[in-house]
Parts: sequence; structure tokens; C-alpha cells
Amino acid sequence: MLPGHYVCTSCGTKFPFEFYRAIYYLGSGEIGDHVPDEELLAVPLRPAWCKDCGRVCPVEDIAPLRTFEAAYAAVRSGLSFDYPFSSKYGDPADHRREVAVYLRWRMGRRRAARALCCGGSNFQFMDVPTPLFKHAECEFGVIEPVEVIPGPGVWRPGISGPANTRLYSAEGDLIGRITWLHLTEHQRTWSVEKLSYPAATGE
Ligand SMILES: [Zn+2]
Ligand SMILES: [Zn+2]
Repeated sequence: MLPGHYVCTSCGTKFPFEFYRAIYYLGSGEIGDHVPDEELLAVPLRPAWCKDCGRVCPVEDIAPLRTFEAAYAAVRSGLSFDYPFSSKYGDPADHRREVAVYLRWRMGRRRAARALCCGGSNFQFMDVPTPLFKHAECEFGVIEPVEVIPGPGVWRPGISGPANTRLYSAEGDLIGRITWLHLTEHQRTWSVEKLSYPAATGE
């Protein structure tokens, strides 16, 4: 989970994330101009400081396989769990399906967690008790998370406006961005714009 942003306790400099959501594309083959909703899976995220980009950024939160197996056992027994997502919200039937998809994805995942800004691994997680993050430009400032309580929103991604959510391969490669949602009687599909990591830092 990501906080709203980070802020320096001394000078008040704000450190926002460039984006707060990311999605895996689990379909086979190259993505086309559209992807079906059922081939998408939310990326569990942790806040980190990317040393290559010099900013806060979302990093993939990839727990050990046994954590996914525990969630799979829990969802089948009607027990609660809080990873890879919280069982507090939503429909139990959807949870069963989604946890199974997460487990399948985890079993196939080879690479270690990547910083989703640039695909690199030169980062430090920020959701740990220590160390404190010193603000480099400040003598006494440390960078702390700030929770932002979302207002009552009726903005529907892909319908009210383009979702603009970054899309990644199962191994954390940036491949695109989903924009508009198209609803038909039988299918939900998203328009896709192709994207990739900057060549200098991506692989
Ligand atoms: Zn500062
Ligand atoms: Zn980066």
C-alpha cells in the first residue's frame, strides 16, 4: 500500500508519487490496442526511494510463494487475509478467482521486485521502521509518509476519463498504459497505448 505522499518534517517539501496504481497484463503474446479486463491484475505496491530516479516510487510488493499459498488456503476456507489484497472489501466469489490468479502469477514470476518508475532494482523500501529518510537538502529534515483520505468520488476510471494506469508484463516490464474502458454485454475491454521504460535505465 502506498501513502498519499511523503513530506519533509523540516522544510515541508512534498514528495508525491508519479502514479499510485499499476496493473499486470497476464494475457499471452504481445498486447494489441485492446486488452480484456480479465487479463489484468492489480500490482501489489510498496513505497520506496528509487536511487536511480532520485524520487519516491512504487515498487512491486512480491511476497514469498508461501504467503500466496496461505491466502489461497484462507480464501477457500472463508478466512480473512490482507495480502495480495485485503479481503475486507468486495465479493468472496471474486476473491477466490483473484487469489488463484495471483498464485498462478507468483508461481511463474522469476525476477525480483522492480521499481516501476524505471524497472531498476536500485531502491530502498520506505515502509520500514528504520532507517529514517533524511532530506538531502535539509539539516534536520526527515521524510515521512502522509495519509490522504480520499474524498467522496464519483470519478470512474476509463469512463469519466482515461484511466492512464501503467501496464506491466508479469515480470515487471513496462509495456503500456490503459486508457478508456469499453463495455459490451459480454466483455469489458480497455484501450491500450504502448509504453516502455526509458532505454537508458530499462532492460
Ligand atoms: Zn527538508
Ligand atoms: Zn527509478
